[in-house]
Formats: sequence, C-alpha cells, structure tokens
Amino acid sequence: MTYAHQVLNELKEKYAHETFFLQAAQEVLESLQPLLDKNPHYERLRILERIVEPERMISFRVQWVDDKGQVQVNRGYRVQYNSAIGPYKGGLRFHPSVNPGVLKFLGFEQIFKNSLSGLAIGGGKGGSDFDPKGKSDMEVMRFCQAFMTELYRHVGATVDVPAGDIGVGGREIGYLFGQYKKLTQRYEGVLTGKNLLFGGSLVRTEATGYGAVYFAQAMLEARGESLEGKTCAVSGAGNVAIYCCEKLLQIGAKPVTVSDSRGMVHDAAGIKVDVLKQVKETERASLARYAELVPTARYTPTTEYPKGRNAVWDVPCYAAFPCATQNELALDDAKTLLANGCKCVAEGANMPSTLDAVHAFITAGIAYGPGKAANAGGVSTSQLEMAQNASMQSWTFDVVDSKLRQIMYNIHKIAAATATEFGQPGNLVLGANIAGFRKVASAMEAQGV
Ligand code: NDP
Repeated sequence: MTYAHQVLNELKEKYAHETFFLQAAQEVLESLQPLLDKNPHYERLRILERIVEPERMISFRVQWVDDKGQVQVNRGYRVQYNSAIGPYKGGLRFHPSVNPGVLKFLGFEQIFKNSLSGLAIGGGKGGSDFDPKGKSDMEVMRFCQAFMTELYRHVGATVDVPAGDIGVGGREIGYLFGQYKKLTQRYEGVLTGKNLLFGGSLVRTEATGYGAVYFAQAMLEARGESLEGKTCAVSGAGNVAIYCCEKLLQIGAKPVTVSDSRGMVHDAAGIKVDVLKQVKETERASLARYAELVPTARYTPTTEYPKGRNAVWDVPCYAAFPCATQNELALDDAKTLLANGCKCVAEGANMPSTLDAVHAFITAGIAYGPGKAANAGGVSTSQLEMAQNASMQSWTFDVVDSKLRQIMYNIHKIAAATATEFGQPGNLVLGANIAGFRKVASAMEAQGV
C-alpha cells in the first residue's frame, strides 16, 4: 500500500463522519503520490500525518439575544490548520451546515491554496452554524459581537487573520472588526474584506469572482482559446458569483445563469449584474425577484430541478463557473456539461465538483481549474489588504486589480509547470496540489518537529 493510501485509510477510520474532509483529503493525498515516491523522507518525517491534523481547533459557545428578547445559542469555531509559511488565513462561514468536519475540509484546502498563491500565509478557516438569513441587522450585529467576544483572544494581525465566506460579507466583517477593536483597543488588520473607510482594500469584494475569470483566461490562452463571445454558466448568486458575472461581461463573454439555495435563473440575453446586485446585495431577496424585474429571465425553483441534479449545468455552455458551494456539481452534471460541448470549468467555490466529476473533466482533457487554484484570488487580495494595512498605504483599484491578475496567471503557470514536471501535462489538480504541498512540507521540515 502506498504511503498516501495508508494515511488516507487511517483518516477514514478516525474521521468516518467527516465526509467533506475525507473527500478533500483523498483528492489531495492521492495526487501527491508521484512527489512522495521521489521524496521518501517525507514518510520518515510523517509529513502527511502531520499536515492532515490541524495545529489547533478552537470551539466555543456563542450566546446572544434576538429581537424578541429570547436567548439564542450557536456553536463557533476556528481551525488553525497550518502556520508553516505564515499566519493562519482563511474565511469565516456562517451557515447552518457548519460543523468541525466542514471547516476541516475548508481549512485543509486553504493550506495549499495559500501556498500556491506565492504569498506568506498559512491555512485556517472558521465560522458558526448561525444562519444570517431572515435575521435583522441588529440580530446579525449582536451575533457578530458575541462571536468575536470569544474569537478575539485567538486572532491578530500577525497570528490569524479571518475574512469572509458564505454568509459573511462586508456587513458582518464590519461588526466583527468593531468588536475586536473594542475588546483589544488595537486598530490593526485582524480581518480582511473590511470596508474601505477602515482599512479595506479596493478589489477585495470583487477578487474571488474576478480571479476565477482570470484563471479561466490563463487556462484557455495556454490552449490558444478564449472566453470572448462565449456563453458561460455560473452557479451561486453571492459574492463570488456576482463578480464572476461582472468580469465575464467586461471581457465580452456572456454569463446566462445564476442560482441560489431556492432556485436558478436562466437569462439567455445575459445576466444583468446591476439587477443581480440590487436583488442580492441590497434587497437580500431570492432570485425569483430577479425574474420579476428582468423580462428575458426564466426562473426555476429547486423543487422543479431534475431529481438530484443542479439545473444550472443543463444549460449548454462553453465554460462553467461553479460559485455556490461544495459538491454542487456531480458526475451526471459533468457528463451533461461535456456532452453539451463545455470546454472549461473554473471553480469559484471550494470543492464544488465531486471526486468523480473532477475525474470526468480530467479524463475528457478540458481546461479544468480546481477551486484551490481558480478561487485563490480572494485570499491573495486579502493578503494585499494585509500588506496595505501593515504599511499604512492604500493602493488604487488598477494597481490591486493588476496584481490580482498577475497572481492568477502565476498560479496557473506554477500548477501547469508542476503537472508537466510530474508527467501529467494539463492536470491542474495534480499540479496545484503538488506545488502547494511541497512548499509547506519543506517549511515544516526546516522548522523541525
Ligand atoms: P455568499 O454567501 O455570498 O453566496 C453563496 C451563494 O451560494 C448564495 O447564492 C447561496 O444561496 C448559494 N448557496 C450556498 N449554499 C448553497 C446550497 N447548499 N445549495 C444551493 N445554493 C447554495 O458566499 P460566497 O459567494 O462568498 O462563497 C461561495 C463559494 O465560494 C463558497 O464555496 C466559498 O467557500 C467560496 N469562496 C469564497 C471566497 C470569498 O472571497 N468570498 C474565496 C474563495 C472561495 P442563498 O443565498 O439562497 O443561501
């Protein structure tokens, strides 16, 4: 049995209930085997056993009072996964599905993504099973204050720097930052994704969606192809999806779908980003509202989706951008996309494709950019925010945007070159995993046990 499989089996025994974490671990560890074969000392140093275990898992009670005066209790977490190459960095997710296994999958992915970005940041993730949906502004504020009242002792500008993720946007980051400042009396870059008024960076809001498009462009340019004039399917309707659509429109491509947890919109005339922003960012409404406002749009609720399928992937497209959540694109969806002529998949979300869907894309030889490479624009721009905070500077939109684009092209270059080095040109899963892993493993080796 290979070293990677031996460690995977141990994980499966120990963490049988953490299915998302096991899925993420399997994808990474299996693709590392060619590197492990060339470096047998990793086994002697037990690098895999060490890298799959978080350095620290913090879990805490969050108690707060709702608008009716009732006491509410949620669970809060921070997984400080790996600090070999820099302070922990990774988002906070507020969603009822959050549990330690979900955060371990996200934190584990984050280690390699952050390493691949070329920046000095370690991997972490956190969040709560709190559901911001349907809560008033004041309830969200009280929750964020209660959450930070526990978290503040574990984070700091050079220790651990959280950002947003599902359910955590500019509003939540603002309330979290306010509470951190109040508790510590420190005005520092402890969070990224901040408002521009108090240390935020231009382009951070747009970064993950823009970055996924830049990554797709890099993959396609390497094949002599382009997104210009092409129809694209996007899933999700949150931060990543909105700015993915915006960038696609700017470069002359045509996004025709978006989706949320209640349904999807197909707008053959092209998604109207201003309306999407109004519906999702201002009104915080469901996508049914988009279809009310845009006559060319057709709305399908999830209850009318074909059984077990995500209807977004039934829309014929040249490129697909899954930007909602994990495992939203399964094998049948991958087969449909490929049968309809899809040539490019760039993942804005984390682990949106199941393992067999990933396998189908790689086998078909299309341009496939896994999340840890294609959505690294968010964390990379967060690091640019940290750099601006530390040097007390504010860079212009164009400066940050061009740095983001450069970072995405560099990530593609490193992942592609590593895939070729290990005899699998075009396999960016293998390339991204090995390139991300080897830097962290070398740092762990140099720092001793
Ligand atoms: P948002 O909360 O802004 O948006 C999430 C979107 O996905 C919403 O439209 C939401 O619908 C939909 N969604 C969430 N869960 C489900 C589900 N179970 N089924 C169907 N739809 C769902 O989050 P982000 O846009 O920030 O994050 C999206 C993805 O991108 C996540 O995988 C995240 O980890 C990843 N990511 C985000 C980064 C960032 O900078 N924000 C950076 C890198 C990766 P609804 O509103 O109805 O819940």
